[in-house]
Amino acid sequence: MLLPMPRLFNASRFSPAKRLCHGAALLLICCPHLTAWADIAAKVDAMVGNQRKIWVLRDDATPANRGEARRAGQYLYFTNLQLGQSLLAELGQNPDTLPRQFKRWAEAMDKPEFSDEDRLVFRGPLEAALPRLGAEEHQDADARLERLSALRHVLGADFLDAFNPVPLKARPYSPRWTDYVKHLAQQQSSTQILSELADTVQPGGEASASAPTQATGPGVPGVPELAEQQRALKARALEWNGEELPERTLLLTFDDGPHPVHTPAVLDILQHYGLKAIFFQVGRNLGELQDGHVSATRNEALERRIVAEGHAIGNHSYTHPQLPRLSTPQVDQEIADTQKLLDHHVPTGPARTGTFRPPFGARDDRVLAEIEQHGLRSVIWNIDSEDWADPLPSSIAHRIVSEAEKNGRGIVLMHDIHARTVEALPQVIEQLLQRGFRFAHWDGSHLVANTPLPVAPAEAAALPSFLAPAQAPAPASSPAQPEKVKR
Ligand SMILES: [Zn+2]
Repeated sequence: MLLPMPRLFNASRFSPAKRLCHGAALLLICCPHLTAWADIAAKVDAMVGNQRKIWVLRDDATPANRGEARRAGQYLYFTNLQLGQSLLAELGQNPDTLPRQFKRWAEAMDKPEFSDEDRLVFRGPLEAALPRLGAEEHQDADARLERLSALRHVLGADFLDAFNPVPLKARPYSPRWTDYVKHLAQQQSSTQILSELADTVQPGGEASASAPTQATGPGVPGVPELAEQQRALKARALEWNGEELPERTLLLTFDDGPHPVHTPAVLDILQHYGLKAIFFQVGRNLGELQDGHVSATRNEALERRIVAEGHAIGNHSYTHPQLPRLSTPQVDQEIADTQKLLDHHVPTGPARTGTFRPPFGARDDRVLAEIEQHGLRSVIWNIDSEDWADPLPSSIAHRIVSEAEKNGRGIVLMHDIHARTVEALPQVIEQLLQRGFRFAHWDGSHLVANTPLPVAPAEAAALPSFLAPAQAPAPASSPAQPEKVKR
């Protein structure tokens, strides 16, 4: 079966519009009543096209282009989030027009060129639409979601299959899924996708903060090696990437929320296991600013719950842009606006971490300097759940556990805005606990492990200064800013 790659926003695909007008520009002028329809179909097409690329970038990347593929995939993923929000906006709130809009949405999703696998991308927008749908549309959306749920069980092995009997070797995909992605990659390889996105996605351009792991390698003899080590030390002071944590210790982090449905579900699971995490939040999910002042707030009760349950929060920019592509004042504003919203929601207390996570992990020395300017520390990750790219909870769980075993320690990147992350999380935690991992959390000034560190005092003393053993007494006060690593 051939799966055609839809071209994005190609007006000629929309036959009614084509019959009446000639081209998108004319369409806008002569057929305004058709533009909403075309918009919906174009957005649905674009979502499927982006999702196909994400899956190819994940599975067809070569060792040489994996980092770039990950950045490009995250960019496409975020584009799809925005398209999904825009589809919801098209749906509107008006009960008189909503059924008609939903019908158009449904017709666009039912396009015969889409495979069942393609339609997995509609799960998020459908779930988000449910609360505002009338009885008939609700039933339709429910049936679609049930079909997608059933499909995921067909495409991926279930949790136990994913981990038994020899857990970390085979990837938990069915042949059907593997064939599907292989077919997509034949249509457009990861190399082709990356060259198409070359002008859009921040190229390499990682900050020197990625240097620490390289600095311990063979190195360059003489002075350059020393300079490299010093640069790496400075970079480590500006940024954590998980390598700082003690052996078999993990820090759970959740990005892009808060989300009214999925964040509470994540909190329930963490509470069940008695674990704490850091939530890196996007400012616009917390509210709006006017003339530099908070003018509207969102998710206030949810934010209170996160804090009350002992979790910590960090800044993840206001609009989630690729910061290295912005001017320095724009970078400053992205950081400052979210900082003001965090100040508003959580003025003081141990939940404030003084950390910043660059969207897409995209940062360069200029962005890092700006983060430091705000008194914040950049926090990256070394274990990517790829829950943004993977529709299968079993596969997400498998990836996290495999990466944790491979790296032996680290900061885990997840997103509290997906049902699949919520579904994967209990299995992730169970598996990691069974394998003897423990979890770190932020106590207001340090990262601490949730169980006593099994290290001799001499070794404990060698830990970085921002890490404290769990048995260490808590600081007298709860400063809002973390203790700076000695530079
Ligand atoms: Zn993000």
